[in-house]
Amino acid sequence: MNLGKLKKLLANYPDYRWDQVKRAVFQELITSWEEATALPVDLRTELAEEASLGINAKEVVSLQDETRKAVIKLEDGSEVETVLMPHKTRNTVCVSTQVGCSLNCKFCMTGKMGLVRNLEYWEMIVQALFFAREIGKIDNIVFMGMGEPFLNYEEFVCAAEFFNDEKTFNIGARNISVSTVGVVEGIKKLADADLQINLAVSLHAPTNELRSSLIPVNRKYPLEELFEAIDYYLEQTNRKVMFEYILLKDINDSKNDARRLANLMKGRLHFVNLINYNPTGEFQASSEEKKESFKKILENEGVKVGERQSFGEDIKGACGQLGKN
Ligand code: SAH
Repeated sequence: MNLGKLKKLLANYPDYRWDQVKRAVFQELITSWEEATALPVDLRTELAEEASLGINAKEVVSLQDETRKAVIKLEDGSEVETVLMPHKTRNTVCVSTQVGCSLNCKFCMTGKMGLVRNLEYWEMIVQALFFAREIGKIDNIVFMGMGEPFLNYEEFVCAAEFFNDEKTFNIGARNISVSTVGVVEGIKKLADADLQINLAVSLHAPTNELRSSLIPVNRKYPLEELFEAIDYYLEQTNRKVMFEYILLKDINDSKNDARRLANLMKGRLHFVNLINYNPTGEFQASSEEKKESFKKILENEGVKVGERQSFGEDIKGACGQLGKN
């Protein structure tokens, strides 16, 4: 399915045709143009010839939980992964913004494959559409799959707006989140954008030295500049930022690390989400005791802390595991 081509084709028709197509494809979730009964027969025939609705994907379902991972084959043959996390009350899709990633964070599988290319916005949309066709309504979108959203900023914003569009997925901005490694320009642009989505930042270390050793791009965007951008974001939007922190055994999980992290959070309204490390080779996860004492120190310093549950580890669908497995 090539949404870019479809939209271009419909540019020859009055605007309301595009609206009808959006409703049919993203709300009625049709898989064949014959089902688009709101459209005249001629147009349906033309679309059937010119604009396939097929999505070429392989899917795996976790045996541990309900998580599903789909590997979608794109027109140029490259493959992108996307994950569905179904819950009792809401379905979340984790969307990739790039094929691969250029950042090479030491704990992340995607970095190991390097960057293949940026995705077009509609290639992000297709990821959620694939799962919507299987389970119906998608309630949450997290741009936390392969790639760095802010290194593909324009397409990512287009995708977020599309998900938000009441004529398509109609997902409220507060139910859309984006996670960045800390690309400062992106944080500032989002602060100025008219888009009320949630921002998460992959922090993972409280000092420049440690962070640069885990996340090489920290050399380009050191903590001082990162927090300056985050302060600006808070000023402009009044929205709290979520900081992701993977606990890596004997690397970033000491009491001192916790105190330093608390210091970075001081006076800021943000909150920290502690993440269990999902095996990708080099590191080990911190023990439960370490995690509890790390959490206590943050809480005692008045920092709001949560823990991210991880899903789909057995299908290599958990955070940091997307890549050439
Ligand atoms: N590039 C963006 C978007 C990816 S989001 C970013 O860095 O935020 C994926 C999240 O999973 C990030 O917080 C990332 O740091 C985290 N992650 C990467 N590898 C992981 C691993 N092995 N275990 C747990 N989390 C991991």
